[in-house]
Amino acid sequence: MINLNSSPVQLSLRQPDDWHLHLRDDHLLKVTVPHSARIFRRAVIMPNLSPPITSIEAARNYRQRILNQVPTQLSFTPLMTAYLTDSLPPEVLEQGYSDGVFFAAKLYPANATTNSSLGVSDISLIDSLLETMEKINMPLLVHGEVTDPGVDVFDREAVFIERYLQPMLKRFSNLRVVLEHITTKNAVEFVETSGFNLAATITPHHLHINRNAMFLGGFRSDFYCLPIAKREDHRLALRDAATSGKPCFFLGTDSAPHVRSQKENACGCAGIFNAPFALESYAEVFDEEGKIDRLEAFASEYGPLFYGLPPNTNTIKLRRNEHVIPRNYSFKDHDLKPESFVPFHAGETLKWFAEAE
Ligand SMILES: [Zn+2]
Repeated sequence: MINLNSSPVQLSLRQPDDWHLHLRDDHLLKVTVPHSARIFRRAVIMPNLSPPITSIEAARNYRQRILNQVPTQLSFTPLMTAYLTDSLPPEVLEQGYSDGVFFAAKLYPANATTNSSLGVSDISLIDSLLETMEKINMPLLVHGEVTDPGVDVFDREAVFIERYLQPMLKRFSNLRVVLEHITTKNAVEFVETSGFNLAATITPHHLHINRNAMFLGGFRSDFYCLPIAKREDHRLALRDAATSGKPCFFLGTDSAPHVRSQKENACGCAGIFNAPFALESYAEVFDEEGKIDRLEAFASEYGPLFYGLPPNTNTIKLRRNEHVIPRNYSFKDHDLKPESFVPFHAGETLKWFAEAE
C-alpha cells in the first residue's frame, strides 16, 4: 500500500517491526526503548543480558522493565526470547512458549559475541531443546558464526553454515529457523535455496558498510560489529537480497548499543546503535537501488508472514526530507557519570525521515 506522490516524495507504509533488537537493561532502557518505539510496533528482544534470560520469570520481568520505558503516546510490544544454554531444561521452553512469554529462543555459540559466554558450547548437546522446539513450532534464532579461533573472523559465518546449520536443518527439518544478521553472499545463497523453514534478517549497517569502514583513516570502532562487516561483494549481495522482494529476507536491525567508553577501549565492544534512524537507513538503500516500492514488504510484511503473525494495520509516513543524524546521545550512567551512545550514520545526512501518521 505504498502511495508514491509527486515531489517531494512521501510514502505511507504499514508500520514496521524490528525482528532483532538489543535494548540492554536498567538505566539504558530509558535511552534505547523510545528510539525503537518511535517507529517500530513490535520487536524481538535479544536475551544476552548479564546474566542472560534463561527463565520465564526473568523474561517476564525484563519485558516489564522495557514496557515501563515506552513513551505513553506510543504502542510497542517486546517479543521476548530465551537464551539457550547446554543445560537449559526443554520444559522451560515449552512452558514459556505456551504461556506466551517466550516468542522464540536464541542460539549463541558460546563466546561468539557480547554476553555469550554461557551460550551453547556444542550444538549436539542441545538436541532435546531443538526437538522440543520443532514439536511445539517455536522459532529458533541463530547467531551463525563458529567460534573456533582457527577460523578466520571473516569466514566464521560461511563455515558455520556448512559445519553446523546445514546438518542441523537436515536433522530438524520442520524447525522454524531465522539466521540472524546475515553478512555474506554464502548466507544469501544458502537461505534462498535451502528449501527448509529458514529465513534471514538483514541489518541496515551491513547494507551500508563493508569492512573498509573500520579502517578509514585509523581504527573506527563505531563500525565494529559482529558478525563483522565483510568485503564489498558480500555487501552488494546483501543489498540484492534485501531488495529482491523474496519473503525469506526481512528487517532486523541488530541495533546493539554500547556506551562510548566501552567502544573506545583497548578491547572495544562489538555493536552498532542504529535504532534511532534504522528505517531511514534502510530507506536510503532501497531508494539507491531503485526499489523503494519493496521497502514495505521487507520492513512490515515478510517478518509477520514468517512468524505467522498479523501484519500491523496502522501506517507511518516516510518523507523525503534531508536531515543530519546527531553525533551522539548523551545520558548519565548508573553512577551519574556522563556517557553517550554514538548512532549509526552519526553526522551524516540521510534523505528520508520517518514519523507516525
Ligand atoms: Zn544481535
